[in-house]
Amino acid sequence: MREWMGMYPEELRDAVAGMGEKPFRAGQIFAWLHRGACFDDMTNLPAALRERLKAEGVDQPVSIREERISRLDGTRKFLFSLRDGNCVEGVLMRYRYGATLCISTQVGCRMGCRFCASTLDGCVRNLTAAEMLGEVQCANRVLRDERVHNIVLMGSGEPLDNYDETVRFLRLVSHPEGLNIGIRHISLSTCGLVPQIRRFAEEGLPVTLSLSLHAPNDAIRRQIMPVALRYSIGETLDACRYYLEKTGRRIVIEYALIDGVNADEKCAMELADLLRGMQCHVNLIPLNTVQERKLKGVTEAQVASFLSWLEKRHISATRRREMGDDIEGACGQLRKKAMQEGQP
Ligand code: SAH
Repeated sequence: MREWMGMYPEELRDAVAGMGEKPFRAGQIFAWLHRGACFDDMTNLPAALRERLKAEGVDQPVSIREERISRLDGTRKFLFSLRDGNCVEGVLMRYRYGATLCISTQVGCRMGCRFCASTLDGCVRNLTAAEMLGEVQCANRVLRDERVHNIVLMGSGEPLDNYDETVRFLRLVSHPEGLNIGIRHISLSTCGLVPQIRRFAEEGLPVTLSLSLHAPNDAIRRQIMPVALRYSIGETLDACRYYLEKTGRRIVIEYALIDGVNADEKCAMELADLLRGMQCHVNLIPLNTVQERKLKGVTEAQVASFLSWLEKRHISATRRREMGDDIEGACGQLRKKAMQEGQP
């Protein structure tokens, strides 16, 4: 089955031409699909064409299987169903500057970070670009008179480990005839796949790059992130600097504070030395404890101390706002729970 939504306009044009249809039909189909319509809604298309599109492919590859709304801040957590029975998570946050959706790029993940729930059972498969777009459309349906304004690729999966479909998604979601979400309103978070960061810098897609650093030196990083066995912090930050040079976008450094591992003053000093002179911003977050993991988060007082140690050394940093704490807002937790409750 084809996923029509994952096709670029020119690919759609070829496919439609191959079906003996006029090329302008492709433009109509593209606009409908990216507005979230299903084939039955496409009333300006001949019925026979709609039937053929339906027979050969899918219009809406994702649906909402479960939704939880936070009583604290209105954050919504989705469990999305994919057509093969797999499911992934997404989180919709309402900020003053617009609705922000966090989407998944893979079912599971194979990066193996010790603190993360998404990677516990490895990577099942990559999501397609159409499925990532489907996540956005599901959220738009829920929002009614508002639209998703910002997207963060920070759900389950490593986006740069699913490089081609992620790039295709970014081009399609920002397409003027499609959802038209500004590339500058999109963030991509990576655990630090160095060759892919360098390649991504050349794509002409200046999204905000977030690096999940989580450690001030290689020794600590290797204990918690297997990717650090492959790439040193030095080469990883060099790749980020290259990205910065190519795109002009400041890098965001993600740093999850883990009690007894990376949260003391010595770590803050080392981190400041590492980042000095680099155009970046540090996002601090106390680690969310995942039941299956032994690592523990820190107290608010510890976060405040770490923040002040960085500030004293003139490193731009904030504590990342936590939303949806009451609805298993953290990575991979809801999917894990659904799977444990015995649903596929
Ligand atoms: N694979 C990408 C994106 C998905 S993870 C990456 O590694 O960046 C999104 C972010 O959540 C990453 O910064 C990740 O390190 C962080 N994260 C994962 N588990 C966490 C936990 N238990 N507590 C806090 N942050 C966590």
